[in-house]
Amino acid sequence: MSFNGTAAPATFAQLVAYAAANDPDLSTLEQYWWAHYAYWQNSIIVTGLLAFCSHELVYFGRNLPWVVADAIPSVFGRYKIQGAAKQPTAAQQWECVRYILLLHVFAEVPLMVGFHPVCELFGLRVDVPFPRWRTVAGQLAVFFVLEDAYHYWIHRLLHWGPLYRYVHCIHHQYAAPFGLAAEYASPVETVLLGVGTIGAPIFYGGLTGHLWTVLLWVVVRQFQAIDAHSGYDFPWSLRRWLPFWGGADWHDDHHQYFVGNYSSSFRYWDGK
Ligand SMILES: [Zn+2]
Ligand SMILES: [Zn+2]
Repeated sequence: MSFNGTAAPATFAQLVAYAAANDPDLSTLEQYWWAHYAYWQNSIIVTGLLAFCSHELVYFGRNLPWVVADAIPSVFGRYKIQGAAKQPTAAQQWECVRYILLLHVFAEVPLMVGFHPVCELFGLRVDVPFPRWRTVAGQLAVFFVLEDAYHYWIHRLLHWGPLYRYVHCIHHQYAAPFGLAAEYASPVETVLLGVGTIGAPIFYGGLTGHLWTVLLWVVVRQFQAIDAHSGYDFPWSLRRWLPFWGGADWHDDHHQYFVGNYSSSFRYWDGK
């Protein structure tokens, strides 16, 4: 169901009702998605807004439990990978948040504004219905493997002398990472590693690719990055169930020792 050229009814609610009447098989989410694009009649703004709002909501929403955990060390301190003396102060964490907000607004927003034309160029769909869940899950698995390989090699490159000094050392400012520091990096690094995150879904776009899948992928990738920087290793952490999964136990060592464990999600590239 395309939204282009719709004779625009007056309100957003009418558009939702129109979508529901036109295709009764659409889910509520799909009806709202379609109405959103039809209402604004500007796909660049709609896609940019979806990308920006979901990114901020997930980044700060997923970090909230870690901030709470850090605030009650008597309960959660025993699960911290590195000792209390190495943990960042509240002032350092606040400085990190301010930097992240500036980075999101000045480095990521321009990329998000340019995202829709790139999606169109590579044939990514934005209409409804969304792809089936089985298709989405299969594509997410492929994206995890491809991004992890890309991340491994680019991250190794970022540890080469000049690139480390001028670009990557910002991310290594915190030797004992915490969730909010997941995206604490130079804008150059944000772009370089961001290509690995959205590159595969975009190139894959011409084959059954959909923006919905890309947004979901970015959400799960954010979860992965934030958890890897959380500094906590629980008895129920994912890496205990999936032996090839890195998690915080894996990435904390990279921040602590500056070498090894260059991949983002999996342990098989340079596992101990
Ligand atoms: Zn590094
Ligand atoms: Zn890191």
